[in-house]
Amino acid sequence: MPIKNRLAETHAEITGWRRHLHAHPELDFDVHETAAFVVERLRDFGVDDITTGIGKTGVVAVIKGRTDTKSRVVGLRADMDALPIEEATGLDYASKHPGKMHACGHDGHTSILLGAAQYLAETRNFDGTVVLAFQPAEEGGGGGREMVNDGLIDRWGIQEVYGLHNMPGLPTGSFAIRPGALLASADEFEVTVTGKGGHAAAPHQSIDPNVAAAHIILGLQSIASRNVDPLASAVVSVCALHSDIDTHNIIPQVTRMTGTVRALDSDVRDFVEARVTEIVTATAQAYQCEAKVDYTVGYPVTINHDEHTEYAAAAARAVAGDVITDIPPIMAAEDFSFMLNACPGAYIMLGNGDGPMVHHPEYQFDDEAIPAGASWFVELVEQRMPAQ
Ligand SMILES: [Zn+2]
Ligand SMILES: [Zn+2]
Repeated sequence: MPIKNRLAETHAEITGWRRHLHAHPELDFDVHETAAFVVERLRDFGVDDITTGIGKTGVVAVIKGRTDTKSRVVGLRADMDALPIEEATGLDYASKHPGKMHACGHDGHTSILLGAAQYLAETRNFDGTVVLAFQPAEEGGGGGREMVNDGLIDRWGIQEVYGLHNMPGLPTGSFAIRPGALLASADEFEVTVTGKGGHAAAPHQSIDPNVAAAHIILGLQSIASRNVDPLASAVVSVCALHSDIDTHNIIPQVTRMTGTVRALDSDVRDFVEARVTEIVTATAQAYQCEAKVDYTVGYPVTINHDEHTEYAAAAARAVAGDVITDIPPIMAAEDFSFMLNACPGAYIMLGNGDGPMVHHPEYQFDDEAIPAGASWFVELVEQRMPAQ
């Protein structure tokens, strides 16, 4: 196996960190224990510099190579946060925090980057500087954006940045990537439809916001099917629908719905946003209701830079042999997109074997993927900043 030998040796130790983090999941920006654990490990490795509190609870560390003749700086990123899910794996190291679970494998990503950091601090077999970014709040809070806003790219002079995510369904330790859009943008909307409540037996004396809401939902389905180019991609999903009534004999006054918009292109994204507002407003009016749309722009499209996709694939090839370089885009989103918008780089999928998908209560990160993931980070550094 072209796994770095030293990483085969440290595999058990890294797995221990991963399982510790798995048992102690934290949410959003509230990753204080996780960040402290990361800092403790980085201190043990003897990295050159550690800064905490970047992007609220993010950690940035610096490892200098044996030489620095070209002032090169490569950034490597991992996410630290978990999800508000009750774990159902039955593992002996399952979550000790009720209602919280590392169901997206960010415990694995953090441990993989720690494993790479340990290796790089030991060997320093490169010419330049590595900047490690451990970010909070990937799952919706925009920790990546906060770290960029706190100067992650500029302050540390990062010239190119790389990240990975585990992927169930791909063989463990294999890699898949594509140039261009890999993951979608993700926006949220909340629609409030106001009618006139009344007795359910006298609908003619009321204005039923539920009927308007039903037509709005159907109308929204026409955006992806009728308005967006069939060869482009868009998703409009209404995920929650609530009226202010919970009985069988009252017409409600107000009905609310929330949903998400996904796209792989910023023009499509803007177009869908405009159509959501038009359809909601006009349909509500047609059914004598008033509607308000609160549209929140979320994570941008994750776009791999062409050249850096090649570098990422070359490092993956050195680790795993064959690499898929044309994986279809995925309509999930990633706030690594904020880093890729600020700096060239690439994001790769790391095979996690068969099993439940991420965000499922029975999802399990496969510790056998650790040596491949950590070797990939190390290869990237050694290939992009070869030792003199
Ligand atoms: Zn996730
Ligand atoms: Zn994730």
